[in-house]
Amino acid sequence: MKQFAVIGLGRFGTSVAQTLMMMGYEVLVIDEDQEKIQEVVNQVTHAIQADAKDENALKALGIRNFDVVIVAIGKDTEASILVTVILKELGVKCVVAKARTELHGKVLVKVGADKVVFPERDMGARVAHSLVSSNVLDHIELSPDYSILEVVAPDLLVGKTLRQSDLRVKYGVTVMAVKRGREILVSPSPDEPIRENDILVAIGENAKLRSIERE
Ligand code: ATP
Repeated sequence: MKQFAVIGLGRFGTSVAQTLMMMGYEVLVIDEDQEKIQEVVNQVTHAIQADAKDENALKALGIRNFDVVIVAIGKDTEASILVTVILKELGVKCVVAKARTELHGKVLVKVGADKVVFPERDMGARVAHSLVSSNVLDHIELSPDYSILEVVAPDLLVGKTLRQSDLRVKYGVTVMAVKRGREILVSPSPDEPIRENDILVAIGENAKLRSIERE
């Protein structure tokens, strides 16, 4: 089973660590603040107080044996960058780093982060999309051009099958799944009629998804 380490117990790091634990994974957390460590000591596999800028401390913890290390240090940009460099130099295969700004993100990529996440920016965008249309429940940006949208089936589609609705041709989007109450129809048949209150999980170009948001 994959082993994870989370460095920095702010709101983001704590949430990542708790969610991984809930999913049944082993999680090591590291924070320089002893109080933060005390708060989570009973909720995670191991909680260690250490300055992650200290290469020897990370080495002693056997950090290179972890499959994924999440650098969740935010305010101290220098620390976040240094820790990412050290982790890559120590041979950690997958380093996921949290960035506060675009520039911070660019630097993290340059120093070797395998994945950079922007929790505040991404959550802001998701909330904005859900505010624009009461039909939109969630929006996940896959790239600057493509997204996945979770949208309550617009009235004009109810009663039609996916084939009849012609979403691919009219809007250039593909419905990957339909959520119906507690049921999820994955890769629904083109002959599946869309019912009232169905939730469509659609993938497509951002510009085209916007036209569905407005329906
Ligand atoms: P969030 O927005 O997720 O709440 P944040 O972006 O404001 O967090 P910070 O509060 O700056 O992030 O840092 C998160 C945690 O990282 C803090 O608990 C802090 O003690 C810890 N931290 C910062 N620098 C280091 C370091 N060098 N080694 C270990 N932990 C560190």
